[in-house]
Amino acid sequence: MILTRIQVKTRCLALVTGIAGIVAISLSLLCSLSALAQVPTLADGPVLIGPVLDGKMTQGSLIRGKTEAGVKIWLNGKAIDVSENGDFVFGFGRDAPLSHELKWQYPAHSENANSAASAKDKQSIATFSKELTLSKREYDIDRIEGVEQKYVSPPEAVLARIRQDNREIAKARRNQSQLKDFLSDFILPAEGRISGVYGSQRVFNGEPRRPHFGLDVANKVGTPVIAPAGGIITLTHPDMYYSGGTIIMDHGFGVSSTFIHLSKLDVEVGQRVEQGDKIGEIGATGRVTGPHLDWRINWYSERLDPALLLADFDVDANAKTNTGTKSAASKK
Ligand SMILES: [Zn+2]
Repeated sequence: MILTRIQVKTRCLALVTGIAGIVAISLSLLCSLSALAQVPTLADGPVLIGPVLDGKMTQGSLIRGKTEAGVKIWLNGKAIDVSENGDFVFGFGRDAPLSHELKWQYPAHSENANSAASAKDKQSIATFSKELTLSKREYDIDRIEGVEQKYVSPPEAVLARIRQDNREIAKARRNQSQLKDFLSDFILPAEGRISGVYGSQRVFNGEPRRPHFGLDVANKVGTPVIAPAGGIITLTHPDMYYSGGTIIMDHGFGVSSTFIHLSKLDVEVGQRVEQGDKIGEIGATGRVTGPHLDWRINWYSERLDPALLLADFDVDANAKTNTGTKSAASKK
């Protein structure tokens, strides 16, 4: 995994439960793997190791986790899909609350940790929870005055088309698969200049627009777009109203990539691609001001920051700090 241990806060939690003797369990949640060696063992039972999380604890982040096979996981009370090897993943949106509850429950065999306990006590031994605290991010807000109204709202005639596009995109992102490609490192899917970042938002004539959720890479039309990680193509569309030439790729367990404004699509729905395979070309299709790739990452409908998945990408250095008010004339 790429989001290194450096970014994972080293914070351990020791729980003590007093059921038929004191059972001390050090939960390795948010601790580096090296800390696992320090987990104390129970007197007469297996070692219980809490889930290990990998990813930056901040808004817009994808968090990958590893636990024992058979452990069940809930985030804020909602069950999270766990692979047969104990891999799982979840993500936090742009404006996600800063506090979340991760709960996990050991499989039946682990409940034997204390054979003297009653069935009810076993249940309480086997279920744990932990608060996850996210850092708050600052996003670039760009205020632009004097924009003609026809550019602020789409014309009536295209609303049906926009709704149809949105339905297809939402369906592709709901796709549930057991692919494990979300566990691999991700690479930037095109060469070029970073021209837009996640979370930024324009305010036209005082009206806030939808925030920008992608990572924009500007380059000339025809520049190759490659798969940032392996996956299976779940949507191709040559010309959606806003996003133009569009590809969605499934990386498994709800994690998907979306590539928009493409001039050329080289893949078909159902096709398996590996990291680095060419899938299309940069274009200026859809509603754009110039040729660029807009790459997005989702965990189901949750929109995440692709830059947080890149090992060598300095998110803060690429975030613009421009918060002033501009005129439409200077913005063009
Ligand atoms: Zn964009």
